[in-house]
Parts: sequence; structure tokens; C-alpha cells
Amino acid sequence: MESITFYGAASEVGRSCFVVESHETTMLDCGIKLDGRTPVPPTFDLKKSGEIDQVLISHAHLDHVGYVPALYQNGFNGKTLMTKPSRDIAQVLLADALRLQRETLFTKKSVDKLFNNIKLVEYRKPSGGVEYRDAGHVLGSGMILLDTGEHRILYTGDVNLRPTRLLDGADLEDLEADILITEGTYGGSHVRQASKKTINTFIHHVGTTLRRGGKVLIPTFAIGRGQEMLLTLESHMRGKIIPQAPIFLDGMVKKLTKIHRHNANYLKKEVQQRILTSDDDPFKSEYFEEPTSKTKHEVFNAGRAVIVAPSGMLVGGPSVRYFKKLAPDKKNTVIIVGYQANDTPGRLVKEGVKNVEVDGENVEINCQVEVAPFSGHSDSLELMQLARRVKGLKQVFVVHSERDKGLELAKQMSTKLHVKSYVPIVGEKVQI
Ligand SMILES: [Zn+2]
Ligand SMILES: [Zn+2]
Repeated sequence: MESITFYGAASEVGRSCFVVESHETTMLDCGIKLDGRTPVPPTFDLKKSGEIDQVLISHAHLDHVGYVPALYQNGFNGKTLMTKPSRDIAQVLLADALRLQRETLFTKKSVDKLFNNIKLVEYRKPSGGVEYRDAGHVLGSGMILLDTGEHRILYTGDVNLRPTRLLDGADLEDLEADILITEGTYGGSHVRQASKKTINTFIHHVGTTLRRGGKVLIPTFAIGRGQEMLLTLESHMRGKIIPQAPIFLDGMVKKLTKIHRHNANYLKKEVQQRILTSDDDPFKSEYFEEPTSKTKHEVFNAGRAVIVAPSGMLVGGPSVRYFKKLAPDKKNTVIIVGYQANDTPGRLVKEGVKNVEVDGENVEINCQVEVAPFSGHSDSLELMQLARRVKGLKQVFVVHSERDKGLELAKQMSTKLHVKSYVPIVGEKVQI
């Protein structure tokens, strides 16, 4: 009898961690939840780390990879599989997590042990019952097909069916699996806006703010949406659609942008072309600047400017510092571009709350607040489309979703596709 245990990201977003038990024990992702003051690990009992045979990582966001070192620290000796860009990104993000951690989740030694035990995988090259497919979510992100002998499991990781400025959409060709573990971040009834409309809204608000001499703050994940923002801003500034102004990249955005250049073959053909064959590298734009001073005075003194900085939900990271300083002034604009978890300052700002506590400080919000949903996640229509493409599908588990949205998606899957659909809770073990 085979089983899946959901140690995190079950009826919640964050700390993805699932264990498939068959003739071997495979962990799918091992992340931490980062929307509170302290990171929350998955409920997997670390004493059992030695029993895991392999860990498969879908992509390098910390809610998917941020807890793997703890496994190595507690007796895991196997390989961790991921793509090369995921490894490069994880190296930067985990080093940073190590530096910033308030309570010790893992040591530098265990991070090193992880990177000494990585097995790189490529899309569409099956090996040992595991195959990765482009998930279109961030650079190097993968959907994972796991053949256990009795079952074929497709785990979507975080998935985006839509092509973006940087990446092709998810690869849905010839998918075959009887079990689907799908993300459901936007599993509710909300339908995604057309990308063009989002870009127009975004550019309109950036332009208006710069013209009145204000600053635009874009809190974002350091990887993924960050680079999407940069390319969008760069092309509109170069085309003189918005006024010229410095675009400050803070908090590893620059480092991670470099990783995109080094892994250009994972980007869309046209971006690849620009990077590889001409002086037209969009990531090397003259508009991009990196604040080097601790006080960030060059940013605050810049007059009009755009700032792209993590974290995306205003929980820690340099975006918090900029937010405190810029939010009280009505000349400025904060643009919310990504997913905002419940109870985070970012969610409150998005909902129009006028006084928000950020990092222990009460901040008065007089600036303009706008929302331009540049999501790296598919909406429920697209997730249904994905599930329809899976041949032989019998059972669906919805994860990486607030419970009500997950239930909505599961209901759609069972009524429209006639498959068993289920939203597990954290710690639940299901026989398959
Ligand atoms: Zn992600
Ligand atoms: Zn995620």
C-alpha cells in the first residue's frame, strides 16, 4: 500500500512538504512558511530524516526548498534533485536565510551538505522514475512526475500556464498520471486579468507617480516577479512611455537577476537572443542601480525613482524599510504585484487599511496604493485546463491553497472531471 503524507501547504500556502511512501520514500519539496515574524517549518519529524531516500525540489522559492538543510542536519544522506537554475537560486536564498535567521533552523554545515548532495535534472529527461517538466513559474521551476511502480504522480509545484515576458508557460504536452497533486493558490472563483491589462495598469501608475516627482515602491519576491518587473519597466522607460528615472534593485534582486543571465537557456527564446547575441541585454540596463549604502540615502535622495525590493508581503527584507519611509507621503505609490497571505502587512495594505503595523512600527499610509496582479500562479480555469490535459487521471489533491479556495477547486475538479478530489490538512496521511 502506498501513501502520501502532507506535512505542510495543506489547507494553507507556504512550507510545501509531502512524503510519498512506496518501495522507497520520496519527499516532494521541503519549505518553510515565511508570512509571519518567525519562519514555520513543516510538521515532518526530523528524527525520521534518515528514512528518506530522495528529495525532489520543484523550484527554489523558500516555501519549497527552505527547510532541506534541516534534513541533512538530522541524518538524511540521500540526493536532492533540482534543476541547475534552482540550485543557483537556492544557493543565494539559503545563504541569505542563514544570515538572517533569528532562531537556528539549520547550520552552515548542513547547507553545505545539501549543495554537496544535489543531483541536477533537466526537463523531459526521465531517470530513476522521476521526470521534470517546465512549470513556467520562475526560472528553472519544474512540475515533477514520479513513477512509484503502482502509481504515476504528477506534482505541479507552483505552476503558471501563461507565458510571461521572461518564461514560456508550463509544458503540458503528453502528461500522464493517475494522481495529481496540484497547487491551488488562486483556486477560488477569481479569474486572472489579461496580462496586457495588468501591464497597462502598472505602467500607468508608475508613469503618473514619476511625473509628479514621487517614488514607486514595488515589494516583490526577489526571484520571479522581481525580474518580470525589471524587464517591464526597462522596456517602457527605453520606449519613453514613462519618464526616465533610476530603478533601484535591492536585496539580492541584482544577484538573482545575474543568475537569469547565466541560465539564459531557461528563458524565453527572444530574451535568450537578446542576452546571447547582442549588446541589447535587458538585464544590463543603464537604468538599474543597486543601493550600496546601509542607510539607502541614495534612494531617498533620488527625487523620482522606482524601487524593486523583497519581501513581497512586507514581512522582513528591505521593502519594509522603504515602505516605512515612503508610505506616509502622498506623492509616492506602492504597487502590490504578488500573492499576499492572510494577516500579512502586504494583505492589509492591499485591502486599503490606512494604519498598518510593519516590523513592530505603526505606519500611516497616505501614499497611493495600487494593485497590478503579476502573478506567477495559474487561476482555477487554468488549473482545470492543466488537469484536463493529464491522461489517465483518477485522483486529485489540492495543496498550496487557503482552505476555502482549495475546496472550491476540488469541487470543480470532481464535478467537471469526475475524479476524486481532496484537500488535505497538515499532518494528514492518505493511502493511495
Ligand atoms: Zn513559488
Ligand atoms: Zn509556493
